[in-house]
Amino acid sequence: MPSTTATYRMDLGLVLDPEVPPGPLGDFELVCFTSSSGKGKLHGQETCGSLRSSTSVQQSTLALREAKGRLCATCRWPLPADSPLVAFTDAVRAIRQLEAYAGPEPHPDTDFDEAEERDAAAATAIGEYPQEHAGSADDGKAEEVDDRMEWERFERARLIRERHRDHWRYLHGYMRESVDAVAAHPWLCPFAEPLQHALAAQIEHERQALAALLRPDALLDSSVVPSLSVPNLTAGPEFAGLGPNAHNILRTAWTSWQHTAATTWRALEDDDFAARSVIYDAFGRRRKGRDEVFAALDRLTSRWIDAARVAVAEHRGAPRQLVGVKLPPLEREAYSGQRRDPLTDWEAGVIATHQVAANWSACTVALLLPHPVAERLLADAPASLSAERLDTEESGLPITTLLTRWTPQNDLP
Ligand SMILES: [Zn+2]
Repeated sequence: MPSTTATYRMDLGLVLDPEVPPGPLGDFELVCFTSSSGKGKLHGQETCGSLRSSTSVQQSTLALREAKGRLCATCRWPLPADSPLVAFTDAVRAIRQLEAYAGPEPHPDTDFDEAEERDAAAATAIGEYPQEHAGSADDGKAEEVDDRMEWERFERARLIRERHRDHWRYLHGYMRESVDAVAAHPWLCPFAEPLQHALAAQIEHERQALAALLRPDALLDSSVVPSLSVPNLTAGPEFAGLGPNAHNILRTAWTSWQHTAATTWRALEDDDFAARSVIYDAFGRRRKGRDEVFAALDRLTSRWIDAARVAVAEHRGAPRQLVGVKLPPLEREAYSGQRRDPLTDWEAGVIATHQVAANWSACTVALLLPHPVAERLLADAPASLSAERLDTEESGLPITTLLTRWTPQNDLP
């Protein structure tokens, strides 16, 4: 059956309350049922429970403009899928999602208190995991308990960071849906504006909360990792434990490390597992020579980290760059239906850390970026980000003006 003949059952009474301007749809003729008196609520279904006490039910057709305000909140009106009222009701619903952020409780989804946030920031400033410390043998037991508590503390910090990221990105989706809804039904603008304003404040709150748990120095180090040249991977005697295939294994370890270090917001020191896991798999159950190889690998990854820091230092003093990006919406996995963020942790971290302005009517943001971060984003970012330099002519215009004047490549007709 073609979709245009499908019938939708729309909860008009719940969504279209008197505050909602119907615009040209005010003339839409709606079939309603009322009690025999013709007064009281208008119903979409003859069988509505609240009509049960009525001796007879009458049908009437009213313009939406007149019906609005009297619509039963539990009824569903049958409407053809291609009815403009279906699209309009969905648009209003998309805007009403924002009402949760305009209420008296400004951050309805934030369930961490300030002390937890502060502690998470203190932990993530150190790294992903507690620093190892050399302890004396006597207080082994006490130290074990301390260690466990420290590990739990860092785990909690990473969880808080992940929650802020998810929520921040989720809210971008709400904003985008409401912007699309207004674009299709421009008379909804005055109704949507205060709600979008409240949502923008909440998005900013989440962005700052996420940024407080990220390390700008780590993002900077990661920015140069894709452009590092392949290091010398000649396997000396220290890698003898890997057998004749040592060179290829080291090559895989390097590729794995480079990919991981380039796409995360972690400090480079916390990415060593990416190389270590390759070696671990290569050894399998074998033990012989393993410790020597891991020790040699650690020396190797430190050299890779040093090379990244040298590359960063080469850009020291280069001016920051103003870059515009469009925030890509979350995607849905085809099979599981689960949401996934097309932004890597590194890209999300760069946006959260360096955003200086937002233009929500286009879902674009301006980033003031350290030189290597800008170069990487402009060269490497996926097309969905539309990353572009904003102030190419050094026009002297304010950042918000530059941003609102910018049309991302993807949006050009
Ligand atoms: Zn009803």
